[in-house]
Amino acid sequence: MEQPKKKSLEKLLHMTRQHKDMINIMPLQTGSILTPAAREALIEFGDGYSVCDFCTGSLANIPNPPIQEFVHELLPQFLGCDVATITHGAREGIFAIMHSMARPGDSIIVDRNRHYTTSVAAERLGLNLIKVPNSDHPEFKIDVNNYIPLIEEHKPRMLLLTYPDGSYGNLPDTHRLGEIARKYDIPYIVNGAYSVGRMPVNMAEIGADFIVGSAHKSMASTGPAGVLGMKKKWQEIVLRKSESHKNKELELLGCTLRGVPLITLMASFPHVVERVNQWDEQVTKAQWFSGELEKLGFIQLGEKPHKHDLLAFETPMFYEFSQHVRERGYFLYKELKERGIWGPQPGMTRNIKTSSFAASREQLSYVVDSFRAIINKYS
Ligand SMILES: *Cc1c(COP(=O)(O)O)cnc(C)c1O
Repeated sequence: MEQPKKKSLEKLLHMTRQHKDMINIMPLQTGSILTPAAREALIEFGDGYSVCDFCTGSLANIPNPPIQEFVHELLPQFLGCDVATITHGAREGIFAIMHSMARPGDSIIVDRNRHYTTSVAAERLGLNLIKVPNSDHPEFKIDVNNYIPLIEEHKPRMLLLTYPDGSYGNLPDTHRLGEIARKYDIPYIVNGAYSVGRMPVNMAEIGADFIVGSAHKSMASTGPAGVLGMKKKWQEIVLRKSESHKNKELELLGCTLRGVPLITLMASFPHVVERVNQWDEQVTKAQWFSGELEKLGFIQLGEKPHKHDLLAFETPMFYEFSQHVRERGYFLYKELKERGIWGPQPGMTRNIKTSSFAASREQLSYVVDSFRAIINKYS
C-alpha cells in the first residue's frame, strides 16, 4: 500500500505563522491571543491528557491543576450562574443544551443573526428553527419584542439570543428577552461567544437560564474550548450522570477538555476577569476607529453608535479597485500584509470585518493611515 505523503507536514517543524508580530484586526483572533502565562503553560501541558494526573473520575473535580476551583467557583462567579462546566466550544455548549432539553420536532426561537452553528446544531437534532427577523440593511438590529408573537404562535421549547452576533457585532436587549422568557416560562439561552471574556456579561442579571462562551474566541485561550453556565434547576437535565458510570456526565461523554486548551483557559483567566472591566474603553476605541474609517468612505453596518469591537463595513472602493488589478480581490490582503496588518479575509473586498479589540489606538491609527494610503494608491 502507498504510504501517505508526509513532505508537507514535515515543513510544519520550521513554519512560522504568517502574521506573527503583525497588528491583528481579524475578529476571530483578537480575543483569543494568549497571555504570556498561557503561552508558557501551553508548552508545559502540551502532552495529551496532561491535566489527568490526579483525576479520580471526574474532570471538573481534579484538584491539581486547580480545575475544581476553576469550574465550581471561579467560573460560576464570572458568568453569574449557579453551575458551570467546560465544553469544546460555544457550539458544543449550545448543542448539549438543545440535545438534553428538546426532542426532535420541538421548536426553538432564535434571532436571524444567529451563528450558523446554532442552525446546524438544531438541524442535527431535528428541531424546528424559528427565526426572529432583523431590521435589515444597514443596521440589521434585532428587536427582542418580536419574539413575542412567535412564542405565542409556535409554543417553543427554548429561546436563543446571540449576544452579539458574529456578522455585525450587534448587542440586542438581553434583559428584555429575560423578562419575556420569564413571563412565558421558556428556557432562555444567551450565546456569548463574542462577549464572554471581552465584556461584562452576567447570566443572572440578564435573567437567562443558560450562557455559552467560546474560550478560543474571547477568553485568551487556545482551543477548542468553551464554557457553559446554567441555573441550578437545569443541572440534573443537562449535566445528568450516566447510569453505568455514576460520575460521568452523559451529555459531555464523561470528560470534555482533556488537556492543554483547559490549561490555557485557566492560565489566562485572571487576566480575562480583569480585562472585561476595561470594556468602556474598548467601546470608545471601536467607535473612534469606525468613525475614522467612515471618513475614508467605508460604510459601517450594524448598530450605530456601535457598542462592540466587531465592526463590519461595506468597502465599495476596494471592490472597484479589485476589478482592475491582476491580483483581483487579493490585492487588499497583500497591501495590508506588506504594511504589517493582519485582518480582512484574503480575497474579500466588497465587505470587510475587523475587530479593534487587540490593537492599541496608535496601532489602529496606523491601520487607518494604511487604508488611506491604499485608497490613494489605487484611485
Ligand atoms: C464564533 C461563534 C460561534 C462558534 O464558536 P465555537 O466556540 O467555535 O463553537 C458561535 N456563535 C457565535 C456568535 C460566534 O461568533
